[in-house]
Amino acid sequence: MSKLYLVPTPIGNLEDMSFRAVRILKEVNFILAEDTRTSKKLMQHYQIETSLSPYHKFNEHKQLETLVKRISVAESVALISDAGTPGISDPGFLIVRECIQAGVDIECLPGATALIPALVDSGLPNDRFIFEGFLPHKKGRKKRIDRLTDEDRTLVFYESPHRLVKTLNQLADALGNDRQAAVARELTKIYEEVRRNSLSELAAYYTTHPPKGEIVLVVKGLVKKQSQSSDS
Ligand code: SAM
Repeated sequence: MSKLYLVPTPIGNLEDMSFRAVRILKEVNFILAEDTRTSKKLMQHYQIETSLSPYHKFNEHKQLETLVKRISVAESVALISDAGTPGISDPGFLIVRECIQAGVDIECLPGATALIPALVDSGLPNDRFIFEGFLPHKKGRKKRIDRLTDEDRTLVFYESPHRLVKTLNQLADALGNDRQAAVARELTKIYEEVRRNSLSELAAYYTTHPPKGEIVLVVKGLVKKQSQSSDS
């Protein structure tokens, strides 16, 4: 039976590759990569000579059938994205679903992703959380934010630096200025920074200090007041 491995790759620090991830990338018949130029650096660093084929959001739908056929006749294939775990705010879901239907075995290796270190670094409760990925830029954005007002689990968002202040302000309006949050920036890289404060203080800070790099925003969930009846 053929097998598709989903292989996490570093989100900044090249040392964050597991021994198994390197071995599998060396052993598979070919590697599907989100951006073959970006992945070549990783391949060179780990002396991986396996051939790379492009698989990105622009050809994801069109190539799906052909790719699943290619995978079905191969012994094993790996999917990698530019950084982190494939399928997490990156292409991957569609090919996994199609491969499952075609009887291809799927195995996702554990490894680098931005959301888990950001959540743990935030110091906010991490026993229950929801991952919201990127908020829509325009259509549906307000609705998505409004749906979160009663959410009591910790919220995790991916955000771009030029939209961070807008998002912090909109979340402060919807969830309250004092709601605690953390901005995790450039994780695993030289300028890694985690800033913890209320939504409005973070918005004020990043208005005067425009952020650069990659960002995960973590927001505390709603602390529900215990009702009189449940106290008694
Ligand atoms: N597949 C990736 C993962 O598993 O985390 C996510 C890919 S998504 C296209 C890219 C987003 O992930 C960035 O815009 C940022 O929100 C987050 N991200 C990726 N690397 C990061 C880093 N080193 N520090 C903080 N956030 C990061």
